Amino acid sequence: MPHFDVVIIGGGPAGERAAIQAARHRRRSAIVERAHVIGGTRINWGTIPSKTLRESAMYVHGLKKSSLYGIRIEFPDEITIADFMTRERAVVQQELELATRALDRYQVQVFRGAGRFVDAHTVAVHGADGRTRAQLTGDVVVIATGTRPARPADVPFDGRTVVDSDTILAVPRMPRSMIVLGAGVIGVEYASIFAALGIDVTLVDTRDQLLPYLDREIAQILETELRRLGVVRIPDDHYRTIEQVEGDPPSVRVTTRKGSQLEADLLLYSVGRQGNTDDLALETVGLAANDRGLLEVNEFYQTAVPHLYAVGDVIGYPALASTSMEQGRQAIRHAFGIPGLKSRTETLPFAIYAIPEVGYVGETEEQLRDAGVPYVAGRGRYDLNARGQITGLTGGLLKLLFEKPSMRLRGAHIVGHTASELVHIGQAFLSKQAAAQDIAETLFNYPTFSDMYRHAALEALAKAGTRA
Ligand SMILES: Cc1cc2nc3c(=O)[nH]c(=O)nc-3n(C[C@H](O)[C@H](O)[C@H](O)COP(=O)(O)OP(=O)(O)OC[C@H]3O[C@@H](n4cnc5c(N)ncnc54)[C@H](O)[C@@H]3O)c2cc1C
Repeated sequence: MPHFDVVIIGGGPAGERAAIQAARHRRRSAIVERAHVIGGTRINWGTIPSKTLRESAMYVHGLKKSSLYGIRIEFPDEITIADFMTRERAVVQQELELATRALDRYQVQVFRGAGRFVDAHTVAVHGADGRTRAQLTGDVVVIATGTRPARPADVPFDGRTVVDSDTILAVPRMPRSMIVLGAGVIGVEYASIFAALGIDVTLVDTRDQLLPYLDREIAQILETELRRLGVVRIPDDHYRTIEQVEGDPPSVRVTTRKGSQLEADLLLYSVGRQGNTDDLALETVGLAANDRGLLEVNEFYQTAVPHLYAVGDVIGYPALASTSMEQGRQAIRHAFGIPGLKSRTETLPFAIYAIPEVGYVGETEEQLRDAGVPYVAGRGRYDLNARGQITGLTGGLLKLLFEKPSMRLRGAHIVGHTASELVHIGQAFLSKQAAAQDIAETLFNYPTFSDMYRHAALEALAKAGTRA
């Protein structure tokens, strides 16, 4: 029975980073991965594929828009799903090779099969036929099994007309119309991507407000831009029934609780995710997951059994690739007493890769107001920004929130082109507890979108009665 310092169940970003962190400090590590490839949701079913499709959609959308300015372009009448998937496959393949090479370099052993606890130090590796292929023992075991899309019994998934985020990129044909059930980050991102490709998209949102945790001003601009792309949002409604309609092509019909009748070529169901813990035999090690399949951990990512750690999406919020990787590293550092940098979670940036993008860090205007913090907002506008004019990407806003009277930055909220990148400038200022004066004194390149930071800080200073 091979013995390792650490056995990691799940080869997504959390598991990969945990394995590499251990190997860098000369600990023998093994990954057990049940899929035929490593990389998890990041490479295979989520982050990288959706962002690649988004980039292609932006390109097509940009070309179509350019023709409005009189630039002649040859554009095929019909773009096939294969056109997009060729590029997605190439990027995914490249990422897989990079990840595999990194694991090889650090001599991380990868065992193919589903991991299942035999006891608190032993993990069995099962093949698809249910047979045990190997049994591994580890001083430490890290559970990094991630989550999967929730699949309620009354949603008739068929991979053709009714899909989830794992199967959407394998649909056989480009839809002409689409219903997205669920307006979380994934739903909003895919709704905007498909709308940018010219597809009629209806987004059914169970909530009244779009992404209610966003700064409201930012959310309203996002909503306006989504509408401009052609996304129709139905707020505060749920599906009642979903039925497939045979035909050529086949379609899908949705009746909502409020009585709307919707029909489209494709339905994306993106409401909730479920932790991959049901097949781990957690009861054999004295652990139990909650009703969403998620595990509870302490600040060091230890479960109730101290040498069993859990990291990544399987422990829930914030469930990002960035945080999952960092949790993998931190768990290993704690398990083996390895000193290292600690990431600062109080200034965690978030991004929504919709079209347009949203990036934010720190508190929203509503949070400051509810907490009774006196504040002043300063704004930089894409349509007043020279780079915005040059690129034609004028729909957007950068908003900075400063507490009064210190004028210390409390939040940065951006909707518009490259918001997911721009937010890191706000993150750096925030983590250094910068004030509006510091930002206003920072000279940015011209013409850049980043220069909106200076404008926003200057506006806030002016509002607060400071001449700058
Ligand atoms: C459509 C979509 C878009 C996303 N976009 C972004 C984004 O832009 N930015 C961002 O930061 N995050 C994004 N995410 C989230 C991101 O993908 C996840 O946070 C991240 O992949 C979680 O990493 P993980 O290692 O915890 O889990 P996963 O990536 O899910 O990996 C878990 C691995 O464990 C394996 N596994 C499960 N059970 C077992 C078992 N019993 N035995 C062996 N192996 C097992 C699975 O096969 C999988 O490979 C997106 C997610 C989706 C679905």
